[in-house]
Amino acid sequence: MERKSFIKQLLAGSAGVTLFASQIQMLQGCTTPLKTKKLGIALVGLGSYSTTQLAPALLETEHSYLSAIVTGTKEKEDVWSKKYNIKKENIYNYTNFDEIVNNDDIDIVYIVLPNSMHAEFTIRAAKAGKHVICEKPMATSVEDCQKMINSCNNANVKLSIGYRLHFDPINGYLMELGQNKVFGKMNTETGFAFTLKNPEKWRLQKSLSGGGPLMDLGIYALQAAIYMYGELPTSLWAKDTTKDTAFFNKQNIEGSLEWEMTFPSGKALCKTSYEEDFYCYITANTERGEIELNPSFTYDGLKGKTPIGPIEIENVNQQAFQIDAFALNILNDTKSIVSGEMGLRDMYIIEKIYESARTDGKQVLLDEIPNILDLRKIRN
Ligand code: NAD
Repeated sequence: MERKSFIKQLLAGSAGVTLFASQIQMLQGCTTPLKTKKLGIALVGLGSYSTTQLAPALLETEHSYLSAIVTGTKEKEDVWSKKYNIKKENIYNYTNFDEIVNNDDIDIVYIVLPNSMHAEFTIRAAKAGKHVICEKPMATSVEDCQKMINSCNNANVKLSIGYRLHFDPINGYLMELGQNKVFGKMNTETGFAFTLKNPEKWRLQKSLSGGGPLMDLGIYALQAAIYMYGELPTSLWAKDTTKDTAFFNKQNIEGSLEWEMTFPSGKALCKTSYEEDFYCYITANTERGEIELNPSFTYDGLKGKTPIGPIEIENVNQQAFQIDAFALNILNDTKSIVSGEMGLRDMYIIEKIYESARTDGKQVLLDEIPNILDLRKIRN
Protein backbone atom coordinates (compact mmCIF):
# COMPACT_ATOMS: atom_id res chain seq x y z
CA MET A 1 0.00 0.00 0.00
CA GLU A 2 1.24 3.49 -0.90
CA ARG A 3 2.40 5.46 2.13
CA LYS A 4 0.20 8.45 1.27
CA SER A 5 -3.00 6.45 1.01
CA PHE A 6 -2.12 4.60 4.23
CA ILE A 7 -1.74 7.92 6.07
CA LYS A 8 -5.05 9.05 4.55
CA GLN A 9 -6.70 5.96 6.00
CA LEU A 10 -5.10 6.61 9.36
CA LEU A 11 -6.46 10.14 9.43
CA ALA A 12 -9.88 8.89 8.44
CA GLY A 13 -9.58 6.53 11.40
CA SER A 14 -10.22 3.50 9.21
CA ALA A 15 -6.93 1.61 9.58
CA GLY A 16 -7.71 -1.69 11.21
CA VAL A 17 -6.62 -5.15 12.06
CA THR A 18 -6.81 -6.54 8.52
CA LEU A 19 -4.60 -3.81 7.18
CA PHE A 20 -2.13 -4.27 10.02
CA ALA A 21 -1.97 -8.06 9.63
CA SER A 22 -1.19 -7.70 5.94
CA GLN A 23 1.50 -5.15 6.78
CA ILE A 24 3.15 -7.59 9.15
CA GLN A 25 3.13 -10.23 6.45
CA MET A 26 4.68 -7.71 4.05
CA LEU A 27 7.41 -7.09 6.61
CA GLN A 28 8.07 -10.83 6.72
CA GLY A 29 8.78 -10.56 2.99
CA CYS A 30 5.91 -12.65 1.70
CA THR A 31 2.16 -12.94 2.15
CA THR A 32 2.03 -16.71 1.88
CA PRO A 33 4.80 -18.92 3.21
CA LEU A 34 7.05 -20.55 0.62
CA LYS A 35 6.99 -23.74 2.71
CA THR A 36 3.79 -24.73 4.46
CA LYS A 37 5.04 -26.92 7.33
CA LYS A 38 3.66 -26.07 10.77
CA LEU A 39 6.71 -25.49 12.97
CA GLY A 40 7.08 -27.22 16.34
CA ILE A 41 7.88 -25.05 19.35
CA ALA A 42 9.47 -26.11 22.64
CA LEU A 43 8.61 -23.83 25.55
CA VAL A 44 11.48 -23.61 28.05
CA GLY A 45 10.25 -22.61 31.51
CA LEU A 46 6.59 -23.22 32.32
CA GLY A 47 6.02 -20.28 34.64
CA SER A 48 3.35 -17.66 34.57
CA TYR A 49 3.94 -16.21 31.07
CA SER A 50 4.15 -19.62 29.39
CA THR A 51 1.10 -20.88 31.26
CA THR A 52 -1.24 -17.94 30.91
CA GLN A 53 -0.21 -16.47 27.54
CA LEU A 54 2.17 -18.43 25.33
CA ALA A 55 0.71 -21.93 25.51
CA PRO A 56 -2.87 -20.67 24.92
CA ALA A 57 -1.58 -18.48 22.05
CA LEU A 58 0.02 -21.56 20.46
CA LEU A 59 -3.47 -23.02 20.12
CA GLU A 60 -4.35 -20.07 17.89
CA THR A 61 -1.24 -19.92 15.70
CA GLU A 62 -1.43 -20.88 12.03
CA HIS A 63 2.22 -21.66 11.28
CA SER A 64 3.43 -23.06 14.61
CA TYR A 65 2.27 -25.29 17.47
CA LEU A 66 3.42 -26.42 20.90
CA SER A 67 5.32 -29.66 20.28
CA ALA A 68 7.58 -29.92 23.35
CA ILE A 69 8.19 -28.61 26.87
CA VAL A 70 11.28 -28.10 29.02
CA THR A 71 10.65 -27.92 32.75
CA GLY A 72 12.43 -28.44 36.04
CA THR A 73 9.16 -29.34 37.81
CA LYS A 74 8.23 -33.02 37.51
CA GLU A 75 4.53 -32.41 38.41
CA LYS A 76 4.07 -30.11 35.42
CA GLU A 77 5.01 -32.84 32.95
CA ASP A 78 1.73 -34.80 33.19
CA VAL A 79 -0.49 -31.76 33.44
CA TRP A 80 1.02 -30.14 30.34
CA SER A 81 1.30 -33.31 28.28
CA LYS A 82 -2.41 -34.03 28.84
CA LYS A 83 -3.58 -30.47 28.35
CA TYR A 84 -1.55 -29.82 25.19
CA ASN A 85 -1.25 -33.36 23.83
CA ILE A 86 2.53 -33.44 24.10
CA LYS A 87 4.32 -36.73 23.46
CA LYS A 88 6.25 -38.16 26.44
CA GLU A 89 9.47 -38.21 24.38
CA ASN A 90 9.07 -34.45 23.79
CA ILE A 91 9.37 -33.57 27.49
CA TYR A 92 12.80 -32.39 28.67
CA ASN A 93 14.38 -30.91 31.78
CA TYR A 94 17.17 -28.34 32.09
CA THR A 95 19.83 -31.07 32.31
CA ASN A 96 18.89 -33.22 29.32
CA PHE A 97 17.78 -30.16 27.28
CA ASP A 98 20.67 -30.55 24.80
CA GLU A 99 19.18 -33.85 23.58
CA ILE A 100 16.66 -31.75 21.60
CA VAL A 101 19.33 -31.88 18.89
CA ASN A 102 17.89 -35.30 17.95
CA ASN A 103 14.25 -34.23 17.95
CA ASP A 104 12.73 -33.25 14.60
CA ASP A 105 9.47 -32.21 16.27
CA ILE A 106 11.28 -29.12 17.56
CA ASP A 107 12.04 -26.33 15.09
CA ILE A 108 11.96 -23.38 17.52
CA VAL A 109 12.95 -23.07 21.17
CA TYR A 110 11.12 -20.34 23.10
CA ILE A 111 13.03 -19.28 26.24
CA VAL A 112 10.78 -18.06 29.05
CA LEU A 113 13.17 -18.30 32.01
CA PRO A 114 14.48 -15.69 34.48
CA ASN A 115 16.56 -13.10 32.63
CA SER A 116 20.03 -14.25 33.64
CA MET A 117 19.31 -17.72 32.18
CA HIS A 118 18.42 -16.41 28.70
CA ALA A 119 21.98 -16.39 27.38
CA GLU A 120 22.84 -19.93 28.46
CA PHE A 121 19.67 -21.48 27.01
CA THR A 122 19.80 -19.48 23.77
CA ILE A 123 23.36 -20.63 23.20
CA ARG A 124 22.50 -24.26 24.02
CA ALA A 125 19.45 -24.15 21.72
CA ALA A 126 21.52 -22.70 18.88
CA LYS A 127 24.15 -25.41 19.37
CA ALA A 128 21.34 -27.96 19.03
CA GLY A 129 20.52 -26.37 15.65
CA LYS A 130 17.20 -24.85 16.73
CA HIS A 131 15.82 -21.38 15.94
CA VAL A 132 15.27 -19.26 19.06
CA ILE A 133 12.73 -16.84 20.46
CA CYS A 134 14.13 -15.36 23.66
CA GLU A 135 12.00 -13.39 26.08
CA LYS A 136 12.78 -9.79 26.99
CA PRO A 137 15.12 -8.51 28.26
CA MET A 138 17.34 -10.45 25.85
CA ALA A 139 20.01 -10.96 28.56
CA THR A 140 21.54 -9.08 31.45
CA SER A 141 24.53 -7.55 29.62
CA VAL A 142 25.53 -6.40 26.14
CA GLU A 143 28.35 -8.92 26.26
CA ASP A 144 25.91 -11.81 26.70
CA CYS A 145 23.65 -10.44 23.92
CA GLN A 146 26.63 -10.47 21.56
CA LYS A 147 27.50 -14.05 22.52
CA MET A 148 23.90 -15.11 21.81
CA ILE A 149 23.91 -13.43 18.39
CA ASN A 150 27.25 -15.01 17.54
CA SER A 151 26.06 -18.48 18.57
CA CYS A 152 22.92 -18.20 16.42
CA ASN A 153 24.93 -16.90 13.46
CA ASN A 154 27.50 -19.66 13.81
CA ALA A 155 24.77 -22.30 13.93
CA ASN A 156 22.89 -20.64 11.05
CA VAL A 157 19.68 -20.37 13.08
CA LYS A 158 17.38 -17.36 13.47
CA LEU A 159 16.95 -15.35 16.66
CA SER A 160 14.03 -13.20 17.73
CA ILE A 161 13.14 -11.36 20.97
CA GLY A 162 9.69 -11.54 22.59
CA TYR A 163 8.82 -7.91 21.76
CA ARG A 164 5.14 -8.72 21.19
CA LEU A 165 3.98 -5.10 20.81
CA HIS A 166 5.54 -4.84 17.36
CA PHE A 167 2.77 -7.25 16.34
CA ASP A 168 -0.01 -5.40 18.14
CA PRO A 169 -2.15 -3.33 15.73
CA ILE A 170 -2.81 -0.57 18.28
CA ASN A 171 0.85 0.03 19.12
CA GLY A 172 1.48 -0.37 15.38
CA TYR A 173 -1.00 2.43 14.68
CA LEU A 174 0.86 4.70 17.13
CA MET A 175 4.16 3.84 15.42
CA GLU A 176 2.73 4.92 12.08
CA LEU A 177 1.28 8.15 13.54
CA GLY A 178 4.49 9.04 15.37
CA GLN A 179 7.01 8.04 12.74
CA ASN A 180 5.11 9.78 9.93
CA LYS A 181 4.51 12.86 12.16
CA VAL A 182 0.86 12.72 11.15
CA PHE A 183 -0.02 15.29 13.86
CA GLY A 184 3.27 17.19 13.61
CA LYS A 185 6.28 17.25 15.91
CA MET A 186 5.90 15.71 19.35
CA ASN A 187 7.41 15.01 22.75
CA THR A 188 6.62 11.70 24.37
CA GLU A 189 6.05 10.42 27.89
CA THR A 190 5.85 6.72 28.66
CA GLY A 191 6.05 4.45 31.67
CA PHE A 192 5.28 1.04 33.13
CA ALA A 193 5.04 0.07 36.81
CA PHE A 194 3.49 -2.39 39.22
CA THR A 195 4.09 -3.10 42.88
CA LEU A 196 6.46 -5.96 43.72
CA LYS A 197 7.96 -6.27 47.19
CA ASN A 198 8.38 -10.04 47.76
CA PRO A 199 12.14 -10.74 48.03
CA GLU A 200 11.50 -14.43 47.24
CA LYS A 201 10.59 -13.53 43.66
CA TRP A 202 13.40 -13.88 41.08
CA ARG A 203 12.53 -10.42 39.69
CA LEU A 204 13.85 -8.98 42.98
CA GLN A 205 17.00 -11.10 43.01
CA LYS A 206 19.72 -9.39 41.02
CA SER A 207 21.58 -12.59 40.13
CA LEU A 208 18.47 -13.79 38.24
CA SER A 209 16.91 -10.50 37.07
CA GLY A 210 20.04 -8.51 36.23
CA GLY A 211 18.36 -5.38 37.62
CA GLY A 212 15.10 -3.90 38.85
CA PRO A 213 11.97 -2.69 37.07
CA LEU A 214 14.02 -1.17 34.25
CA MET A 215 14.96 -4.67 33.02
CA ASP A 216 11.43 -6.00 33.41
CA LEU A 217 9.01 -3.08 32.76
CA GLY A 218 11.04 0.00 31.84
CA ILE A 219 12.22 -1.85 28.74
CA TYR A 220 8.68 -1.40 27.33
CA ALA A 221 8.95 2.38 27.76
CA LEU A 222 12.41 2.34 26.18
CA GLN A 223 11.03 0.39 23.22
CA ALA A 224 7.95 2.61 22.91
CA ALA A 225 10.03 5.80 22.84
CA ILE A 226 12.11 4.41 19.98
CA TYR A 227 9.20 3.04 17.97
CA MET A 228 7.16 6.23 18.39
CA TYR A 229 9.97 8.26 16.77
CA GLY A 230 11.46 5.56 14.54
CA GLU A 231 14.77 7.13 15.46
CA LEU A 232 17.64 6.22 17.73
CA PRO A 233 18.21 8.32 20.87
CA THR A 234 21.40 10.38 20.83
CA SER A 235 21.76 10.99 24.59
CA LEU A 236 20.02 10.39 27.91
CA TRP A 237 19.99 11.18 31.59
CA ALA A 238 18.58 8.96 34.37
CA LYS A 239 17.80 9.29 38.07
CA ASP A 240 17.21 6.58 40.63
CA THR A 241 13.97 7.72 42.31
CA THR A 242 13.62 4.77 44.72
CA LYS A 243 11.51 5.62 47.79
CA ASP A 244 12.04 2.52 49.94
CA THR A 245 15.81 2.63 49.72
CA ALA A 246 16.25 0.30 52.72
CA PHE A 247 14.42 -2.55 50.96
CA PHE A 248 15.71 -2.03 47.42
CA ASN A 249 19.33 -1.33 48.43
CA LYS A 250 19.28 -4.67 50.23
CA GLN A 251 18.12 -6.33 46.99
CA ASN A 252 20.81 -4.33 45.14
CA ILE A 253 18.31 -3.16 42.52
CA GLU A 254 16.45 0.11 41.87
CA GLY A 255 12.87 0.43 43.14
CA SER A 256 11.96 3.29 40.80
CA LEU A 257 13.74 5.06 37.97
CA GLU A 258 13.16 8.01 35.65
CA TRP A 259 15.07 8.79 32.53
CA GLU A 260 14.85 11.05 29.49
CA MET A 261 16.09 10.20 26.03
CA THR A 262 16.79 12.84 23.38
CA PHE A 263 15.95 11.91 19.80
CA PRO A 264 16.72 13.92 16.63
CA SER A 265 13.07 15.09 16.52
CA GLY A 266 11.94 15.19 20.17
CA LYS A 267 12.33 13.97 23.74
CA ALA A 268 10.91 11.00 25.64
CA LEU A 269 10.44 11.14 29.42
CA CYS A 270 10.26 7.59 30.77
CA LYS A 271 9.40 6.07 34.17
CA THR A 272 9.37 2.65 35.75
CA SER A 273 8.80 1.30 39.27
CA TYR A 274 8.21 -1.73 41.48
CA GLU A 275 6.90 0.44 44.33
CA GLU A 276 4.09 2.47 42.76
CA ASP A 277 0.54 1.53 41.85
CA PHE A 278 0.09 0.16 38.34
CA TYR A 279 0.68 2.55 35.47
CA CYS A 280 1.20 1.75 31.82
CA TYR A 281 1.00 4.52 29.22
CA ILE A 282 2.31 6.25 26.14
CA THR A 283 1.45 9.93 25.70
CA ALA A 284 2.63 12.03 22.78
CA ASN A 285 2.09 15.77 22.92
CA THR A 286 1.90 16.73 19.25
CA GLU A 287 1.40 20.05 17.48
CA ARG A 288 -2.27 19.15 16.97
CA GLY A 289 -3.08 17.68 20.38
CA GLU A 290 -2.51 14.55 22.40
CA ILE A 291 -2.05 10.95 21.30
CA GLU A 292 -2.61 8.62 24.25
CA LEU A 293 -2.56 4.90 24.85
CA ASN A 294 -3.47 3.81 28.41
CA PRO A 295 -2.99 1.01 29.17
CA SER A 296 -0.41 0.68 26.42
CA PHE A 297 1.60 -2.49 27.06
CA THR A 298 -0.90 -4.99 28.48
CA TYR A 299 -2.01 -8.11 26.57
CA ASP A 300 -5.47 -6.71 25.95
CA GLY A 301 -7.74 -3.89 27.08
CA LEU A 302 -5.54 -1.34 25.30
CA LYS A 303 -7.35 1.99 24.99
CA GLY A 304 -6.26 5.05 23.08
CA LYS A 305 -7.14 8.33 21.50
CA THR A 306 -5.66 10.79 19.02
CA PRO A 307 -6.47 14.45 18.33
CA ILE A 308 -9.22 13.20 15.98
CA GLY A 309 -10.94 10.88 18.45
CA PRO A 310 -10.79 7.44 20.07
CA ILE A 311 -8.72 4.67 18.51
CA GLU A 312 -11.11 2.00 17.37
CA ILE A 313 -8.92 -0.98 16.60
CA GLU A 314 -9.65 -4.39 18.08
CA ASN A 315 -7.24 -6.01 20.50
CA VAL A 316 -5.67 -9.18 19.06
CA ASN A 317 -3.75 -12.12 20.51
CA GLN A 318 -0.36 -10.39 20.37
CA GLN A 319 1.59 -13.53 21.24
CA ALA A 320 -0.03 -15.56 18.46
CA PHE A 321 0.81 -12.82 15.92
CA GLN A 322 4.36 -12.55 17.27
CA ILE A 323 5.09 -16.28 17.20
CA ASP A 324 3.56 -16.81 13.77
CA ALA A 325 5.57 -13.89 12.39
CA PHE A 326 8.74 -15.69 13.48
CA ALA A 327 7.53 -18.98 12.00
CA LEU A 328 7.04 -17.10 8.71
CA ASN A 329 10.57 -15.68 9.02
CA ILE A 330 11.84 -19.24 9.13
CA LEU A 331 9.56 -20.58 6.41
CA ASN A 332 10.38 -17.66 4.09
CA ASP A 333 14.01 -17.25 5.19
CA THR A 334 13.59 -13.60 6.24
CA LYS A 335 14.93 -11.74 9.27
CA SER A 336 12.81 -11.07 12.35
CA ILE A 337 11.79 -7.42 12.79
CA VAL A 338 12.49 -7.94 16.51
CA SER A 339 15.98 -9.30 16.06
CA GLY A 340 18.74 -10.21 18.48
CA GLU A 341 20.47 -7.02 17.34
CA MET A 342 17.45 -5.04 18.55
CA GLY A 343 17.66 -6.84 21.91
CA LEU A 344 21.36 -5.94 22.13
CA ARG A 345 20.62 -2.31 21.20
CA ASP A 346 18.17 -2.08 24.09
CA MET A 347 20.62 -3.66 26.50
CA TYR A 348 23.21 -1.06 25.43
CA ILE A 349 20.71 1.70 26.32
CA ILE A 350 19.83 -0.01 29.63
CA GLU A 351 23.51 -0.11 30.58
CA LYS A 352 23.77 3.64 29.75
CA ILE A 353 20.65 4.39 31.83
CA TYR A 354 22.22 2.65 34.85
CA GLU A 355 25.50 4.51 34.18
CA SER A 356 23.72 7.88 34.27
CA ALA A 357 21.62 6.93 37.33
CA ARG A 358 24.82 6.09 39.23
CA THR A 359 26.00 9.69 38.64
CA ASP A 360 22.59 11.16 39.60
CA GLY A 361 21.51 12.22 36.17
CA LYS A 362 24.67 13.06 34.27
CA GLN A 363 23.96 13.37 30.52
CA VAL A 364 25.34 10.32 28.70
CA LEU A 365 25.99 10.32 24.96
CA LEU A 366 24.82 7.29 23.01
CA ASP A 367 27.52 7.63 20.41
CA GLU A 368 28.11 3.93 19.89
CA ILE A 369 24.48 2.87 19.79
CA PRO A 370 23.92 -0.12 17.47
CA ASN A 371 22.08 1.17 14.42
CA ILE A 372 18.99 -1.06 14.65
CA LEU A 373 15.57 0.47 14.09
CA ASP A 374 12.08 -0.85 13.71
CA LEU A 375 11.77 -1.95 10.10
CA ARG A 376 8.55 0.02 9.73
CA LYS A 377 10.67 3.18 9.67
CA ILE A 378 13.25 1.69 7.32
CA ARG A 379 10.42 0.75 4.94
CA ASN A 380 9.15 4.35 4.81
P1 NAD B 1 7.87 -16.98 36.27
O1 NAD B 1 8.58 -16.80 37.56
O2 NAD B 1 6.39 -17.09 36.31
O3 NAD B 1 8.43 -18.29 35.53
C1 NAD B 1 9.81 -18.57 35.45
C2 NAD B 1 10.01 -20.03 35.11
O4 NAD B 1 11.41 -20.30 35.17
C3 NAD B 1 9.33 -20.99 36.12
O5 NAD B 1 8.78 -22.07 35.41
C4 NAD B 1 10.50 -21.47 36.97
O6 NAD B 1 10.29 -22.77 37.50
C5 NAD B 1 11.64 -21.47 35.97
N1 NAD B 1 12.97 -21.41 36.57
C6 NAD B 1 14.01 -22.17 36.22
N2 NAD B 1 15.07 -21.88 36.98
C7 NAD B 1 14.69 -20.94 37.86
C8 NAD B 1 15.36 -20.25 38.91
N3 NAD B 1 16.64 -20.47 39.20
N4 NAD B 1 14.66 -19.34 39.61
C9 NAD B 1 13.37 -19.06 39.31
N5 NAD B 1 12.69 -19.69 38.33
C10 NAD B 1 13.35 -20.61 37.59
O7 NAD B 1 8.34 -15.80 35.31
P2 NAD B 1 7.60 -15.26 34.02
O8 NAD B 1 6.76 -14.11 34.38
O9 NAD B 1 7.00 -16.37 33.27
O10 NAD B 1 8.87 -14.64 33.22
C11 NAD B 1 9.77 -15.44 32.49
C12 NAD B 1 10.44 -14.60 31.40
O11 NAD B 1 9.44 -14.11 30.52
C13 NAD B 1 11.17 -13.35 31.92
O12 NAD B 1 12.32 -13.14 31.16
C14 NAD B 1 10.18 -12.22 31.69
O13 NAD B 1 10.80 -10.98 31.49
C15 NAD B 1 9.48 -12.70 30.44
N6 NAD B 1 8.10 -12.20 30.34
C16 NAD B 1 7.72 -11.58 29.22
C17 NAD B 1 6.45 -11.10 29.08
C18 NAD B 1 6.02 -10.43 27.81
O14 NAD B 1 4.94 -9.86 27.78
N7 NAD B 1 6.81 -10.49 26.75
C19 NAD B 1 5.53 -11.24 30.13
C20 NAD B 1 5.94 -11.90 31.28
C21 NAD B 1 7.24 -12.38 31.37
